[in-house]
Amino acid sequence: MSYLPPGVPVPQANPDDQPFWDACARRELRIQRCTHCGRFRHPPVPFCGECGSGGIEWAAVPGTGTVFSYTIAHHPAHKALKTAVPYNIVVVHLDEADDVRIVSNVIDASPEEIRVGMPVTLAWDEIEGGMFLPRFRKA
Ligand code: ZN
Repeated sequence: MSYLPPGVPVPQANPDDQPFWDACARRELRIQRCTHCGRFRHPPVPFCGECGSGGIEWAAVPGTGTVFSYTIAHHPAHKALKTAVPYNIVVVHLDEADDVRIVSNVIDASPEEIRVGMPVTLAWDEIEGGMFLPRFRKA
């Protein structure tokens, strides 16, 4: 069962992030990394902000991290979320991926449990259309 109910708009891939979503479909968390300087970056972009190289690889990361920031939504941002409030939206600082942070949800924590610095681990969440989103559980 998905963390959020059916009817929420699903992510639409673009040429820069298509490999990210392709990896998610295989339940692999892969983050874009520069082949010249080795710096991770997310969201995906065509050139490295550190060295300017256009060299790209998609590196697997462990899927562990900590909550960098969060909010608790009490007002549904979409009509499909009417029954889901309150739900959390977290920014997770991923381990072993420089300063990469991804926006997600912690699927097994009450709003009162979420804390900055809380350790979390990847939990694949299947949504409509057989798509998998990287979400997190309490570690
Ligand atoms: Zn670089």
